[in-house]
Amino acid sequence: MKNKISKLVVALMAIFLLVLTNVASAYSVDYTYALNGNEGTYQIPYNRLIIAHDTGTYAPARNNAIFEKRTWLSNQAFVQYIVGDGGHVYKVGRDGNVSWGAGSWANANAPVQVELARTYSQAQFNIDYAVYVNLLRDSARTYGISTNLDTGYGIVGHKWVSDNVWGDHQDPYGYLASHGISKAQFAQDLKTGLPENGNYHPNNSSSIQQFKNAGNWYTINKPIRVDEVRYWRGCWQFVNYELAGGRDVNWDNNGIPLAIVTRTDGGDNDNVGKGAMVKFDSPWNTGTIDSYDPATNGVGVNYGKYGMIWFNADTLLKL
Ligand SMILES: [Zn+2]
Repeated sequence: MKNKISKLVVALMAIFLLVLTNVASAYSVDYTYALNGNEGTYQIPYNRLIIAHDTGTYAPARNNAIFEKRTWLSNQAFVQYIVGDGGHVYKVGRDGNVSWGAGSWANANAPVQVELARTYSQAQFNIDYAVYVNLLRDSARTYGISTNLDTGYGIVGHKWVSDNVWGDHQDPYGYLASHGISKAQFAQDLKTGLPENGNYHPNNSSSIQQFKNAGNWYTINKPIRVDEVRYWRGCWQFVNYELAGGRDVNWDNNGIPLAIVTRTDGGDNDNVGKGAMVKFDSPWNTGTIDSYDPATNGVGVNYGKYGMIWFNADTLLKL
């Protein structure tokens, strides 16, 4: 029996690994605009860097690939891959030959350079970014290069080259930050890889991060349904299940004093029962969040004499 179980575990682990492997290599490469054999360079670089760029303009990856294919020589600029358009990977230069993306020293030390095309769409970015991260990781692995970021031996942003060697380009950190990806997050993602289905949500798209981005301000202006009423800790309180983050209510954390709300359904404020609609009174309807609990997606507001009340961040954001 014991043996049976361990066989099952091994089988499950194998499936799990298979899934992980598939996730990591989900993207496919489009060779439509790849340089021909008589284009680009045949110089062999040192296997020291994989260089991460962004294109600097809000244009489709395909347009960038077409442009580099047409102007690689006249403009003296091309890289191996351009990622964008919803996880599309366009090949331009040959892997393992010098490309012209970051100045002569960096080019001579990079078997692969990758451009990320810009988009204003967060949903598209989530997919493009995941593919970009995985392609950078795969390129590093192919050439025995570290996935550490910006150490000078591994994956580096173009900015690292400007800061340490030559040039003034600052990409890709400003663009990544515009979609909520810090350099630290990028470094972390390069270590782990990402699922390419867009289900990866950068920290900034979480409700908690949106509150933080808004200077911790919250408002509760919409009417809320009273789902339960209870006399608790010396005062009448109610809960709304959605605002409490579920039916598993903790009255110390999630109870809202009836004293700070008013009915919006025309009913008697001194007789509030299940199903009544209420709204927060001023000044309780706006302020700053005092505490965050990412583990439960909770945000805490200190209501003075009523203590800290915890809300589900997703629900509070909609109110
Ligand atoms: Zn660059």
